[in-house]
Amino acid sequence: LDLRSEDLILLRELGSGNGGTVSQVKHVTTQTIMAKKIIHIEAKPQVRKQILRELTILHECNSKYIVSFYGAFVTEEDRDIAICMEYMDVGSLDAIYKKTGPIPLPILGKITLAVLEGLNYLYGSHKIIHRDVKPSNILVNSKGQIKICDFGVSGQVINSIADTFPERIQGATYTVRSDVWSVGITLIELAIGRFPFPPDGSKLTVLELLQHIVNEAPPTLPPGEFPDDFDDLTKKCLSKDVSQRPNLQELLKHPYVVEAQKSNVDVEAWTRNVRRKSTAAN
Ligand code: ADP
Ligand code: MG
Repeated sequence: LDLRSEDLILLRELGSGNGGTVSQVKHVTTQTIMAKKIIHIEAKPQVRKQILRELTILHECNSKYIVSFYGAFVTEEDRDIAICMEYMDVGSLDAIYKKTGPIPLPILGKITLAVLEGLNYLYGSHKIIHRDVKPSNILVNSKGQIKICDFGVSGQVINSIADTFPERIQGATYTVRSDVWSVGITLIELAIGRFPFPPDGSKLTVLELLQHIVNEAPPTLPPGEFPDDFDDLTKKCLSKDVSQRPNLQELLKHPYVVEAQKSNVDVEAWTRNVRRKSTAAN
């Protein structure tokens, strides 16, 4: 599919975050609804071309746990890069929990499974480390599918927006075990319905937040409210000592994940509830 800017009609803005703006668009020639992410990159045309080349690897990332990729191009003004991907019509988990509250436990099991399977696919098949696992990068559609997006495929993109990533201030090398840590934080956030740093919920500056993460004990679930298996899984993901932290393969064999796999919870029915509640809230 040769994507051109002039073939895309803007439908609505979906949101924006670190270094990007996302809108819902329609590709007129194929009638496909897509999500188009614009990334602003101050770079020479040559670097931009290299980024586009690096992004073509996304065509090979095919998994039911990964948001699929349609294509990328440099925008007319020649200053931005547009990435077109599968539109996920129920949205991201951050928006969902902010509207409907903590994610129900049986659904959380399916989310854990999808995230771990997605990360394991990226790393196992493409040696790709995600680098940005968080609720807004886990998307849901009304078929009940859960998929991850926004992983770091392009070394050039990573370099040019590195300054905006606070975790980089620490200077530690990012590995697939860092993704496992982020999975732990993400699961706690979804389970309690708020970002778990700091434990008392007070506001911190970015620097205070970093100091807290480095110096204090990792966040934990409130005692007695969650199943032991889930508590154990999040604790393992959040081992500060990297050598104690399980890898993705090990996590996929964790009893919590094995149980989640067997569960026949109706994720599609849950998405109908979410949509009803979020239209009521608007
Ligand atoms: P962030 O992930 O930091 O929130 P992004 O620029 O990646 O910032 O995305 C902005 C918002 O756009 C996300 O929070 C999400 O709600 C929405 N979004 C991103 N990609 C898609 C997609 N493929 N389908 C539907 N919504 C999306
Ligand atoms: Mg994102």
